[in-house]
Amino acid sequence: MDRGRDPDGDPDRGLTTVWVWGDQLDLRSAHLRGRDPGSTRVLMVVSERKLGERRWHRQKVHLVVTAMRRFADRLTEEGFAVDLRRAPSMRAGLAAHVDAFDPSEVVAMEPASRTGTSTLEGLGVRLVDNDHFLCHWSEFATFRAGRGRTTMEDFYRWRRRSTGWLMEGEEPVGGRWNLDADNREPPDAALAPTAAADPPVIDAPDGFDASLDDWLPEDLRLFGDGHDGTWATSREGALARLERFTTRVLPRFGDHQDAMVTGAWHLNHSLLSHALNLGLLHPREVIEAAVAAHTDGRAPLNAVEGFVRQVLGWREFLWGVYRTADAGYAQRNALDAQEPLPPAFTGAAPTAMRCVDDSITSVRQHAYAHHIQRLMVLANLATLAGVRPDAMTDWMHGSFIDAYDWVMVPNVIGMGTFADGGEVATKPYVSGGAYIDRMSLDYCRPCRYDRTKRTGEDACPFTTLYWDFLDRNRATLGANHRIGRAYANLDRLSDLDEVRTRAAQVRSMLSDGTL
Ligand code: SF4
Repeated sequence: MDRGRDPDGDPDRGLTTVWVWGDQLDLRSAHLRGRDPGSTRVLMVVSERKLGERRWHRQKVHLVVTAMRRFADRLTEEGFAVDLRRAPSMRAGLAAHVDAFDPSEVVAMEPASRTGTSTLEGLGVRLVDNDHFLCHWSEFATFRAGRGRTTMEDFYRWRRRSTGWLMEGEEPVGGRWNLDADNREPPDAALAPTAAADPPVIDAPDGFDASLDDWLPEDLRLFGDGHDGTWATSREGALARLERFTTRVLPRFGDHQDAMVTGAWHLNHSLLSHALNLGLLHPREVIEAAVAAHTDGRAPLNAVEGFVRQVLGWREFLWGVYRTADAGYAQRNALDAQEPLPPAFTGAAPTAMRCVDDSITSVRQHAYAHHIQRLMVLANLATLAGVRPDAMTDWMHGSFIDAYDWVMVPNVIGMGTFADGGEVATKPYVSGGAYIDRMSLDYCRPCRYDRTKRTGEDACPFTTLYWDFLDRNRATLGANHRIGRAYANLDRLSDLDEVRTRAAQVRSMLSDGTL
């Protein structure tokens, strides 16, 4: 969009407009870096269509809109003229801005999402590459071209070599690329009290928090507990959270990374993904802070490598997969899963499954569940029961504080539900109750269900559904050598008919909200 500069000699008109999206809140990024405030106006749009497109967690709406407002304030302090407006849609916001200010050109950083990018392309906005990732998706595509199947591990090693992080010459520090095997310790009684001694940073509410409703339409579909200061809505808040993690929590992050304890919602997790995905932290500074903690002897290698793999490996790999996948990727359903979203997930029904109840409680209270609760409780149950993957994507997108289209689509379609047929994961991430019992301190023993049973009214739903899942999907999964042992065990079951019968009851109870 180029309309010619300053058409009427009005100093307020004819400036270049930089359109900053709600997850691009970084003065150092490609859209704002080096810009002269004297010749630049910043546009930010709070889109009513976006706010109305799904049921959102209250804390997510608070986070994004409040962080945008604080960033607009910061830009004003830097000398920029800022047009922060609420509009029926992004398109309408731009049209109103152009009417008001007649910019010479509108420039934006390429949105992380595909739909955002095509919206801006359709509006004629000049795009610059998104540099809020360390590996642009076009570079990812080049890396993948001609390699056939590429796993996250292939990508991660390439990125370690490219960046030099945790490297000694061509070899990984410590001699191993991936220390995941050291990070699967089951929880002990000391885990939760130790983690609770370093509580999350909490910001006291201020005028921005109090006036949020002025920016929201009245008919939003919101759920969950309200804002409590846990999530950073400013650069300063994000840096305080990075400092907390790298100095106090990271040393303990590794060993019990996959552990679960009732009521201990954050354990030793970083709680940084919301700030990374908003643009308040850049992945480079987060990784450098973690690597420095190891170099200085403040954090062990298994903790630092595990964390770096999440940011440098998984986060970037999934963005590359998402951006280079075909247009129908978000609708993939390789296992033909057609069950509705369980009402236990949305809070419309209670559940006696303690593992699910604790995970959903964490979502309701904090818009957060840690990665094993997401993958091995919630997505595991959805996959085993045959819940529609697109329904899971939509629910997780609206429920989690760090969720955006680019991160939820590959996480759910590729990782969580195996709906892409194996492009991201080499096998479905599914398990029966035994895994959840091993990795949780106190989920299974007090539970009304018995994790060792696969039939009967008190059988653990995960255990029943696990065998039924393998049985139902034999045609698609039976030749996958990574789960060959599971199929060998399935073939030894003498009660498969009873398992099938109980599994049908369990699926029905799950969708009725009576499980
Ligand atoms: Fe979850 Fe089954 Fe354990 Fe209950 S017994 S907490 S349903 S895994």
